[in-house]
Amino acid sequence: MRVLILGGTTEASAIARALAGDVRFAPVLSLAGRTRAPAAPPIPWRIGGFGGVAGLAAYLRQEGVAALIDATHPFAARMKQNAVQAAAEADVPRVTVLRPAWQPEAGDRWIAAATMADAFAALGPTPRRVFLTVGQKELSPFHGPHRYLVRSVDPPAILPPNATLITARGPFAAAAEQALLVAHGIEIVVSKNAGGSATEGKLTAARALGLPVVMVARPAPPEGPLVPDAAAALAWLEHQRARRGV
Ligand code: NAP
Repeated sequence: MRVLILGGTTEASAIARALAGDVRFAPVLSLAGRTRAPAAPPIPWRIGGFGGVAGLAAYLRQEGVAALIDATHPFAARMKQNAVQAAAEADVPRVTVLRPAWQPEAGDRWIAAATMADAFAALGPTPRRVFLTVGQKELSPFHGPHRYLVRSVDPPAILPPNATLITARGPFAAAAEQALLVAHGIEIVVSKNAGGSATEGKLTAARALGLPVVMVARPAPPEGPLVPDAAAALAWLEHQRARRGV
């Protein structure tokens, strides 16, 4: 059974590992190509955009895909929408893996932001030392008078002025995150509400240090079936297989 997994996430990698060697399935993992040196998956994979809805629908038909697992990042809104439309067009069953959003806990000092521009505005007029972990595509709203510690997997094309760059790939442990915040004299953190454990350490660290976190809200989820993790996506896949009687 041909399965297309839209990836670039921990969940997609976990699904790929679970399906590797399972002869009932012929999975393909698709990566956007944003990361320069992605870890090689244990299943066949492809890289790069499909060419919008029409391109993805054509791929689904040409490859005889019988199930589409959209395990892209919660903030990959365009791809999620493309998956909804292309799966409908090609009449392929689809599920979206959407990990639960982070929720504030006792001791958290979160400032809600709807957009990156709101997040920048929330930093206020007084110069602050900011830990900026919003991804390399989202940096353009951020500028003076603040000093930024930017962390991303690959170097961004353009950095804000007054920025120090760290390139690193998670997971990040809370203790190391706390040491990083202290070492750089960070006064406020800006984060997307990505959810998941791999990058949660910065929130634990900010809580321990009493630092505010500007938390950028997620885009609206796509329509259709949602599952919270890789295990639930695999259960959905088993169900699709049983329905097809293969
Ligand atoms: P996006 O804005 O929703 O998608 C932009 C375009 O990138 C899509 O229209 C599609 O091009 C291509 N694309 C995205 N995901 C793809 C995939 N898995 N396979 C093939 N093409 C894909 O996506 P994004 O926010 O730039 O994210 C890009 C990738 O990074 C995704 O795989 C996502 O899971 C991962 N990621 C994103 C974030 C984040 O914060 N946004 C964080 C961690 C990882 P075509 O229209 O040409 O098909």
